[in-house]
Amino acid sequence: RAKAHARGSIGLFAPEMDMQIRDRRALHQDLSNAIRNGELSLYYQPQAASKRQIGEGDIVGFEALARWRHPTRGFVPPGEFIPLAEESGLIVEIGEWILREACREAASWPKPLQIAVNLSPAQFLNTDLVATVHQVLVETGLQPGRLELEITEGVLIDDFDRGLALLRRLKTLGVRVSMDDFGSGYSSLTYLQAFPFDKIKIDRAFIMHLGRNVQSAAIVRAVIGLGHGLGVSLVAEGVETQEQLDFLVDEGCDAVQGYLIGMPAPIDQYPVLVGLAPSPDPMPARARQVS
Ligand code: C2E
Ligand code: MG
Ligand code: MG
Ligand code: MG
Repeated sequence: RAKAHARGSIGLFAPEMDMQIRDRRALHQDLSNAIRNGELSLYYQPQAASKRQIGEGDIVGFEALARWRHPTRGFVPPGEFIPLAEESGLIVEIGEWILREACREAASWPKPLQIAVNLSPAQFLNTDLVATVHQVLVETGLQPGRLELEITEGVLIDDFDRGLALLRRLKTLGVRVSMDDFGSGYSSLTYLQAFPFDKIKIDRAFIMHLGRNVQSAAIVRAVIGLGHGLGVSLVAEGVETQEQLDFLVDEGCDAVQGYLIGMPAPIDQYPVLVGLAPSPDPMPARARQVS
């Protein structure tokens, strides 16, 4: 856009830009009412301990994923509304709602599974996150060790000292901290060495190309070795095929998440996994697949 402007061709782009701005403004206005109108909800995607045949007993936790059902536009993807919420400052309120909702939900499960919640950069840097997390834990009664906070790489680097202090304070609450989307941005080894992450989530981009691309296999293998060398556990994101799962099992990846294991869905679609309903089938998953 800046380039177009410099070339004096702004006239060509102005109507479209105008539209985008108006569109964004309207969307922002709608988002500011989304919590009150009950349009936000959480989907939950299961994470499993790595093994070739995954059964109900292998589920170790869920990641909470925000959903916004707009009254006229339908579902707006989080990749769109989270950045919008960040730009407008709404993320503080929305992020707190997400955290509270996820913790409240997880605290109601008979099984003491992990619950992972994504934190946006703005939330991490601009609010008294430690006080908020502490308050939500007390309010919901969730055991702190069950909460995992996912932070994308790069967030901490802008203000290294502050980031480190914040991470340490969070960890004194007893919660766990994961580095999300590892490898997608500005990963550096210094980063991994400096910050006390409990978990690394290997970005879906690498998992996606396993089996088709030798570089991805080499990178995933190396990241698993690196994580284990640092005493950090590894989760692979976006596992969609049995071939990918087999590779990850062979390489010793600790946990897996992806469509192969389960889709993100309202939690009432996973009553057995959280222990709210008995298993309908006592047979192991392997036996079930034969029939
Ligand atoms: P993420 O934290 O890396 O979440 C994983 C994304 O990958 C989710 O997309 C999930 O639906 C998708 N996914 C999971 N398994 C598979 C798979 O096997 N194949 C493919 N193709 N995709 C898979 P989603 O829900 O659209 O979320 C996108 C991103 O938006 C998230 O990436 C996260 O960065 C952000 N986000 C979602 N919910 C929240 C939230 O509550 N707070 C914040 N701050 N960010 C959120
Ligand atoms: Mg995540
Ligand atoms: Mg991720
Ligand atoms: Mg991702």
